[in-house]
Amino acid sequence: MIKDKLLQVQQQIEKACERAHRASGEVSLIAVTKTNPVPKLMEAYAAGSRDFGENKVQEMLDKMQQLPGDIRWHMIGHLQRNKVKYIVGKVHLIHSVDSLRLAEEISKESIKKQVTSDILVEVNVAQEASKFGTTSQEAMELVEAISVLPGIRIKGLMTIAPYVDHPEENREYFRNLKQLSVDIENKNIDNVSMEVLSMGMTGDYLVAIEEGATYVRVGTGIFGARDYSVSK
Ligand SMILES: *Cc1c(COP(=O)(O)O)cnc(C)c1O
Repeated sequence: MIKDKLLQVQQQIEKACERAHRASGEVSLIAVTKTNPVPKLMEAYAAGSRDFGENKVQEMLDKMQQLPGDIRWHMIGHLQRNKVKYIVGKVHLIHSVDSLRLAEEISKESIKKQVTSDILVEVNVAQEASKFGTTSQEAMELVEAISVLPGIRIKGLMTIAPYVDHPEENREYFRNLKQLSVDIENKNIDNVSMEVLSMGMTGDYLVAIEEGATYVRVGTGIFGARDYSVSK
């Protein structure tokens, strides 16, 4: 049952917060709904979930139309510039901004729609070739460049840590991302806050919370294994 899984994850989050001496209200759970069908999302909604994460624009838009309007949608997947226009003004937060060119497109569309878009800068902490995201070294420069764009507001950083057998293997990556966010915060850049750290998935969200995550993105842990053969 999705409801039971959600409850278990919430309880684990609270325990991790206690271990880290953090208030449980500091950490929000994003239910990663990609590939799951609408009835399953409705089950999570009925159980109280309001933050949903999707990684494909079309799938997200399809689901938005069929689900209640008070859901906060999070774009967590790689975003192509030509798709930006479909989601600006509709999503709560874009987690995956990894280039100035993408940020410029979001800025342009936001001005056109007269909205301000909240975004995170995606950092590839482990420098995996298979993943998107700026390097830790280039993150500061990218944040500074994006910060002057109108219609866009940087709220923090996001990372997708490596797939590992033991979550402890990712602890240093989460710690590094937290440190990077502190370094950026200390620069006091106009229009930039580092209040959000989006890190941790089913396999490693508890370690991520211990290291400072404010959003954890959990899919499998709530909905079970994804079935890509029926995708959507
Ligand atoms: C799929 C996905 C998740 C959720 O992964 P699980 O291991 O199923 O919890 C989290 N973040 C991103 C960016 C994803 O694409």
